[in-house]
Order: sequence, then C-alpha cells, then structure tokens
Amino acid sequence: MADRDYGYTKWGKDWVRFAESLRQTRPDPQLPSARRAAQDGKVQITFDDRTVRAVVHRGRGTSVVTIAVAPMSPGTTAEISRRLSGIQPLLTDDLYRAIAEAGHPPAPALDSVACSCPAATQRCVHELSVYYDMARRIDDDPRIALDVQGFFLASAGSGRAPAEATAQRWVALNALDAAAYFTDSS
Ligand SMILES: [Zn+2]
Repeated sequence: MADRDYGYTKWGKDWVRFAESLRQTRPDPQLPSARRAAQDGKVQITFDDRTVRAVVHRGRGTSVVTIAVAPMSPGTTAEISRRLSGIQPLLTDDLYRAIAEAGHPPAPALDSVACSCPAATQRCVHELSVYYDMARRIDDDPRIALDVQGFFLASAGSGRAPAEATAQRWVALNALDAAAYFTDSS
C-alpha cells in the first residue's frame, strides 16, 4: 500500500493532475519534494465544507495552504446521486468512467489557491504537496472527492435552514455504508 503511487484511483488522480498538469511540457522540479512531504506526513489537512486548509511542515518552516474547491455542477451531482441509489454504492473507477461518459465529469475545479509562504514561484512546493496528500486521502476514501465539492450538501437538498442542512449532510454520509463505499481495487 505504502509504495503505491499517488492517484491510483481515478478519483485521486484528479488531484494529482493539479500538480502534474497534462498541459505542462516538463515536470515541475518541485514535485519530488512535494511528494516526499506528503509521504512523510508533513501535510495536515482539515476540511471546512469546500475549503481545504493544510498546514505543511517543511524544513524549519510551516506554511498554510488554503484551497477553495468549486461546487460540483448540478448535472454531475444528479448523475452521481442517481448512480449511487443502488443497494451497494461503490465509488469505483468504472463508476467514474460511467459518470464522465454520461457527460458529467466528476473532476473538481479550484476556485482559489493561496499559500502563506513568500515563494516567488507561481506554484510553491506546499501547494503541490497538498495536491498529493489529497490524492492519497481520496485513493483511500473516494467519498472525500465528492464531499469536498459539496456533493453531500447539495444532494441532501438546498434551501434548508443551515442547521438542518448540516444534519442532512451527516445523515447522507452515515446512510451510506462506509465500507461499501471504498473503491474496489481489483
Ligand atoms: Zn507555499
């Protein structure tokens, strides 16, 4: 498990792509140290709805990365909800492909990314390490890929009082058997 590459599920792979964009002609030289930081547990992530906050310890310094993830489109939310209504919902790579082929790619979009470090580069090593750590977490539990896009909140219905919406969100999460949700890695 430990030597498995980041993004071995399609859900996790989306986050690796933020670090390793297909548009880049050559890999960012910061990628190896970003991977190492994630691997060595130097990235501590907390979630607040669609906001990912990460404390990255590197060398003697600590940086805080804040990533705002865009809400999942209503079409994708509906498509995933429809396909998860079966008895045993599995967030498999096959399900990912089916959703994408139905015209609703579940890949996330980022509204904004900020880091507290003074790096002059366009993308700092802290930001990159968070993408890897997100990929690692999502490979382990693909529900995070949906939750961070507001899927459970949106699928529980909108227009509710905030407290009720939060309660609904947890009901939605708990109603789905966690074990059944793990990707089938066969
Ligand atoms: Zn930084």
